[in-house]
This record gives sequence, C-alpha cells and structure tokens, in this order.
Amino acid sequence: MAQGKTVVVLGGGVGGIVAAHRLRKGLAREHRVILVERETSHVFSPSLLWLMIGERTPESISRPTARLVRRGIELVQGAAESIDPTARKVRVNGSEISGDYLVIALGAELAPELVPGLAAGGHNFYALAGAEALRDARLTVSRGRIVVLVAAMPFKCPAAPNEAAMLLEYDFRRRGLRSRIEVDLYTVEPGPMPVAGPQVSAALRAMIEAKGIGYHPEHAVRAVDPGKREIAFANGATARYDLLAYVPPHRAPLPVREAGLCGESGWVPVDRETLETRHPGVYAIGDVTGIMLTSIGKPLPKAGVFAHYEAEVVADNIIRAITGRGGPARFTGEGECFIETGDGRAGFGRGNFYAEPAPQVRLRPPSMMLHLGKVWYEKYWLFRRF
Ligand SMILES: Cc1cc2nc3c(=O)[nH]c(=O)nc-3n(C[C@H](O)[C@H](O)[C@H](O)COP(=O)(O)OP(=O)(O)OC[C@H]3O[C@@H](n4cnc5c(N)ncnc54)[C@H](O)[C@@H]3O)c2cc1C
Repeated sequence: MAQGKTVVVLGGGVGGIVAAHRLRKGLAREHRVILVERETSHVFSPSLLWLMIGERTPESISRPTARLVRRGIELVQGAAESIDPTARKVRVNGSEISGDYLVIALGAELAPELVPGLAAGGHNFYALAGAEALRDARLTVSRGRIVVLVAAMPFKCPAAPNEAAMLLEYDFRRRGLRSRIEVDLYTVEPGPMPVAGPQVSAALRAMIEAKGIGYHPEHAVRAVDPGKREIAFANGATARYDLLAYVPPHRAPLPVREAGLCGESGWVPVDRETLETRHPGVYAIGDVTGIMLTSIGKPLPKAGVFAHYEAEVVADNIIRAITGRGGPARFTGEGECFIETGDGRAGFGRGNFYAEPAPQVRLRPPSMMLHLGKVWYEKYWLFRRF
C-alpha cells in the first residue's frame, strides 16, 4: 500500500507512549513514528500517591524519555509550541514537523494559579515536585488537621483524591499520630467518583468515612489564605488546615487551546469511538479530550486507562489506513482502576462508561491481592514501555 507515511504523536505520557509503541510495532520501518515530548523523564503518575507517604522515590517511578528511542520510536525532545490541525503540522523547537496523521496526547495542564493562594498554601500532589514537598511536610506535622482538597472539575483520576486521603490517614496512623490528627476531604464533586453511579459513589464514601475521614462534597474553593491556613468556599464555609494536599484546576494545554481545537467544554471534542477530531487524520486521546456521556450528561472521566485504550484504537485504525490490514477498531468506553485504601490494600472498580441508560461500574472491596495487582501493574508499565 502507500509508502513512507509519517505519524506524529504529540505528548509522551500514557496515551502517547501506548500509541507510539503500537504504531511502531504495526508499521514497517519505511513509515515514521515521531513522538514529541517536552520532559526528559516520564513519571508514572499513579505512584505519586505512594511517593507522598514515603513508599517510593522519584527514581523508582521515573524513566528517561530517551529510552523510547530503543524501541524504534523517533523522539523529538521539546515543547510543541503551536499546532496547525488543518495542515497536520506542529512547531517544535522553532522547526516545523508535518505528518500524514497527528495524534494529540498532550494531557491536561495543571493550573493552581486559577485559585488565589492555592499554590502558596498547599502541596500539589498531582505533580512530582508537589508530591515530594508533601512527603517532607507531613513529617513536620504531629497534630492538627490534614485537608485534601479537589479544587475544580474535571480532574484526572477521580479515585486519586480519595486514595490520597485514605493513604494520608493510614500514614499518620502507622506513625502513631492518628489520635492527634484529623483528616478531611473537601471536594467540588457531589460525591466520590460520581460518574461511576450512585451505588459505587456511596460505597466509596462509606469506605472513606469508616476510616474517620470527614467527607465534604459540593465545596467549590474560592480562595486559600496561606497565612491563616484557611480555605474559603463559594458556599460561605471555611476550613482551617495544618497541611493542605490539593488537586489543582485542570485545563487543556495552551497550544491545543490556541489551535482552536477545544469545544465548549474547554477540551477537544472527538468521535467517541474513533477519537478523530473534526480535522481528518487528526486524533486526540486521553485527558485532552472532552467526551460527553449523553446518557447522564456528564463527561467521561479523565484517566490513564482510557488514554491507554483510546491510544490502541487510534493506532490500530492508523495502521489499518496505511497497510490495509485489520478491521476497524472502536473505543467501547470500558475502563478499570485500582483504589488504594491504605494498610497495603486496594479496591478495584471496573465497568463500561458508554453503557445505556447509564454507566455500569462495579466496585470490588479492598484486599491485599488487589494492592499487589496495582504494584505489579506499576512494575509492568515501567519495564514494558522503557
Ligand atoms: C496522583 C495520580 C494518580 C493517578 N492514578 C491513576 C490510576 O490509578 N489509574 C488511571 O487510569 N489513571 C490515573 N491517573 C491519571 C493518569 O495519570 C492520566 O489520566 C493519564 O496520564 C492521561 O494520559 P494522557 O496521555 O492523556 O496525558 P499525560 O499522561 O499527562 O501525558 C501528556 C504528556 O504530554 C506532555 N506535554 C504536555 N504539553 C506538551 C507540549 N506543549 N509539548 C510537548 N509535550 C507536552 C507532558 O509532558 C506529558 O508527558 C492518575 C493521575 C495522578 C496525578
């Protein structure tokens, strides 16, 4: 079939890495697979939760991005400055790269600065530096109030703030400090993992509250006063804290916004089965997308598992378009995630988010086996991909 095609993958996170690997495996060497990534080190995000309680080091959860070259992927190290989706071109390090296909996997930009006082008042455990700072700061607190705060929706990994609260509770308990420490979770959401449905949400909330963690839904943060260590919410409530761990507001990365790729939701609209944008040959996968679940009027949550499965679908369809091999691939809305609960245990949620009339998700209760499953997956990811 067609000779010498070029696929440009923007972003070497979960979605970009899976897409680039699969494309490289499925395409002969006459076709180029170019991956554009600005960071020199890939961090496996789920492990930030273990790092923040001292159970991982930055080195143990990171791998040099340059290692992807060993897999035959052409790596362009640098920031995508601008994207021209019509011409399928991207500007990186001042030069232009054009592709026959473009896969946008740039994730979500974290924007703590959107909430006054937030960055100065707490620790952003969604980024390596913030998770490390939280790990150190928690050792300086021996009494008082730990607050986990979800600043805005949507945010990636709906389970993560709940896991963070349960892991911090566990960490203070194992260090013999729990009786002098309160743990509270304030979130803008109506409940934990609301898109998974009322039963899963109620079960997870019960799990959190059974650990003596105060759960405070529907609290939209307005500002943080770092001096007073106080959070002000839009509903008039306030909360004092001694240690603040927060999930910052998320938004689409700047070059994606500037390219006019975002829809009303602020994220990239795509065909929910093929992930193609309104520009032919241009796909978007993972956190950067906005996929509305029309059945419930809420967006598909942002999670690595969806980025992964979407990447496989997009890669397979591009391989098919280039080689004529295989049948059409479709993203079906299936996903799963481990939920760390502390004490070396994890629960597990799995389901279909495209199911009608509403997503169907089941939650398995926490066990040591499930925790080991999460640990195994971490090792597998870091070994298999790099
Ligand atoms: C603490 C935490 C725990 C989590 N736990 C889970 C979990 O258990 N299960 C799960 O499914 N998900 C989990 N997630 C969510 C998961 O990490 C994300 O949903 C997933 O990484 C999204 O993949 P992505 O490819 O869309 O974006 P990312 O993985 O964020 O990748 C985007 C990449 O693009 C790069 N980039 C951005 N802008 C540019 C630019 N201009 N030029 C070049 N490169 C750029 C970034 O450096 C990054 O490497 C967790 C997240 C966090 C923070």
